[in-house]
Amino acid sequence: MSRKVTDKAVRNGAARDADGVAREAKHAHVIIVGSGFSGLGLAIRLSQQGRADYLVLERGNDVGGTWRDNTYPGAACDVPSQLYSYSFALNPEWSRSFSKQPEIQRYIQGVADKYGVRDKHIFNCEMTGAQWNAADARWEIQTSRGAFTADILVSAVGALCEPNLPDIKGINDFQGEIFHSARWDHDSDLTGKRVAVIGTGASAIQIVPAIAPKVARLDVYQRTAPWLLPRGDREYFGPEKFALKHIPALRALYRAGIYAARETQVVGLAKFPPAMLALEAVARAKLFAEVRDPELRRKVTPNFRIGCKRMLISNEYYPALSRDNVDVVTDGIKEIRANSIVTKDGEEREVDAIIVATGFHVTDSPVYDTVSGRDGRTLAEVFDAIGQQGYKGSSIHNYPNMFFMLGPNVGLGHTSMVFMIESQINYIADAVAQFDKLGLRTVEVRKDVQDEFNVELQRKLEGAVWSTGGCASWYLDKHGNNTTLWPDFTFRFRSLLENFDVSAYDTTTEPVAQAV
Ligand code: NAP
Repeated sequence: MSRKVTDKAVRNGAARDADGVAREAKHAHVIIVGSGFSGLGLAIRLSQQGRADYLVLERGNDVGGTWRDNTYPGAACDVPSQLYSYSFALNPEWSRSFSKQPEIQRYIQGVADKYGVRDKHIFNCEMTGAQWNAADARWEIQTSRGAFTADILVSAVGALCEPNLPDIKGINDFQGEIFHSARWDHDSDLTGKRVAVIGTGASAIQIVPAIAPKVARLDVYQRTAPWLLPRGDREYFGPEKFALKHIPALRALYRAGIYAARETQVVGLAKFPPAMLALEAVARAKLFAEVRDPELRRKVTPNFRIGCKRMLISNEYYPALSRDNVDVVTDGIKEIRANSIVTKDGEEREVDAIIVATGFHVTDSPVYDTVSGRDGRTLAEVFDAIGQQGYKGSSIHNYPNMFFMLGPNVGLGHTSMVFMIESQINYIADAVAQFDKLGLRTVEVRKDVQDEFNVELQRKLEGAVWSTGGCASWYLDKHGNNTTLWPDFTFRFRSLLENFDVSAYDTTTEPVAQAV
């Protein structure tokens, strides 16, 4: 990038700086963008390593990421609480087996306070661009609160942060209330209203039962019926709660048991899909028992192998669909008008509010347009050409001194993402330490290493249920490759990322100071 552009970036930063951030580009050795589970966890580790030379830029006004943003009614985690937490900060206070959003957000806030990393954060600070400056071997970063530079840039923006708004004719002309599930409008009162929910994914199946009893009518627009499994959610009973609070070994035991049980699903998901038939039988029995109306049962019976799309868990969704004031609409949306939704069969249904529960930009995040690498190409341009490819989900060729939390092929559908996050924290924190130890100036993952890694990944994914299960899902990119999921046991990921493998990287070192 040219010096002129750099100057402009610094000047723009200074001009926008109304909140006390330094007037010229502020420098930190490491800049982490995003403070959800992943960015916050890495910040804590860097602090534990005794580093003070890092900053966290967070576009929201608090830590928490997706758990701060997803405040829709019924929001809760699909992974049991004991496993859905940092291993270094087990929570003695969980009130139930599957936590709800407010409790998880309180936990994350508490961890940030306990480890004293909030003062390393700059909140309300959205990254708007980042370019690699080869001459100075540093990243130049533009934000809504001025310009920054960093020797090492870590993207911890998360995969489920940019709401995906459906491209439906007339959607912008709708005159009623309309909002995305991840941007819930808490000023809106849906009581007694005619409401439409578009989508039947993980968010929608929690929203529908939460609002169905209070709305006048609820139309659930379903494009693909999901598979549902029972949700073993319950409040901890008194003595159990007491024991979990006071006996750390019991917490660890619960956690290990849940981890091991969940890990067995990898066999069916990634290695031998016919094994998923056992889970499918459970889901079919649930569907049969909970949906008694044959017509509704026909509508909500999935037409693909369980596991191909994310398996959902709920005990309330099917009963909610069976309510008299709820309708499942499967005819496909033709257009949205000022006060109604018209389906492809020509039927028009009037609505007062539309809840858009259509997921997120995962393989096409807008953030990718804003990051330019060594050859000036943006991540979006690189991914457009070859798909989301990276190395160990943590680095990408052409992006020196940049690391990714939850990068390509780190996602999971069966267990806790916090486990993957902690594996990446090990790897990236070790990389940062190696900069000092080896006097590194730049590291960039070698293309041959990255290519080999991806050939092996795609080989493993070929036979997995996500590829063979007969569904379309956001796991696959436009090239038809699964660039979102880890296709193996998670403990293999953990061992692969135990240490930073500098030999997989092209490196340059800092010039050695000459003795005078
Ligand atoms: P999602 O799983 O991507 O579901 C989006 C839904 O919207 C799908 O039913 C999809 O149909 C439908 N859809 C998308 N575009 C549409 C269009 N143009 N017209 C009609 N329907 C459309 O999104 P999500 O429910 O927000 O969940 C995203 C991810 O967040 C989950 O997979 C999970 O990883 C995470 N999550 C977790 C929890 C939890 O732990 N409880 C809760 C919420 C979210 P198709 O299936 O046909 O594409």
